Amino acid sequence: MMDADISPAAEGTTSLAKPLVLVVEDEAAIVTVLRYNLEKQGFRVDEAGDGQEALTRIAENTPDLVLLDWMLPVMSGIEVCRQIRRRPNTRDLPVIMVTARTEDQDAVRGLNTGADDYITKPFNMDALLARMRALLRRSNAVPVKGRLAFHDITMDLAAHRVQRNGRAVHLGPTEFRLLEFLMQHPRRVFSREELLDAVWGPDIHVEPRTVDVHIRRLRKSINGDTELDLVRTVRAAGYALDTEPI
Ligand code: CA
Repeated sequence: MMDADISPAAEGTTSLAKPLVLVVEDEAAIVTVLRYNLEKQGFRVDEAGDGQEALTRIAENTPDLVLLDWMLPVMSGIEVCRQIRRRPNTRDLPVIMVTARTEDQDAVRGLNTGADDYITKPFNMDALLARMRALLRRSNAVPVKGRLAFHDITMDLAAHRVQRNGRAVHLGPTEFRLLEFLMQHPRRVFSREELLDAVWGPDIHVEPRTVDVHIRRLRKSINGDTELDLVRTVRAAGYALDTEPI
C-alpha cells in the first residue's frame, strides 16, 4: 500500500529534500535490490558493507534512516545499533533492523538494543517502504509553524528573528536563508553546490567560494566569541550544522 501524499518525492522539489537512507548490508545482491527500489521511490541511498563502515558513514554524513542488517562482518547489527544510541548526536536516528532470523525472541532483542522497528528477510519491498515512511513521519520532528530550533538556536521565520541561548543574533538575508536551510536539515553535510542551489536558487550563477564567505559570516554571528561552533566544515565535502565539530 502506497500513500502518495507522504512519498518523499512529494515533499520537496529539489533532490535535497529526498531522505537519505543508509543501507548496512554485506550481501551485494540485497544492496542492489534495495538501492534500485529505494531510489525509484525517491530516496537517496548510501551503503556500508560492515558495522564499522556503517558508523563511519553515519559520522561523515548522517542519514535520515538506517536499514541495518543483523548479521554483519566485523561488528554485528546489534552492536552498531547500541553505538548509534550511545552517541548524543545519533541517539534519535531512526533504525530499522533487518534480520534473517524469524524467532520473535531475536526481534525483541533487536528492539531492546534500540532499533525502532525490524523486518525479517526475505522481506516484501512494499512492506519495508511502508515501515520506513511511518518511521520517517514519526521522527521528522514537524517544526512548529514558522519556527525552527537546533541545539540552543531558535529561528522565528515569521518575525525574522534568530536567538542563540536567548541572545539576539543579527543576520544578513543570505545568512538567514543559509541558517534556515541548515536548520531544516541538521547534521547533514551539504556541498557548496548544493547550498547554492538551495539558498541562492538553481538559476543564480555565483562562485562556489561565495558560499564560504557567507558561511564565515554566519559562523561569526551565531557563535559569538565563546560559544560552541555549530557550523561543521567537512574538508572537500562542504558544511553542516552540527554540535560535533569534527
Ligand atoms: Ca548479513
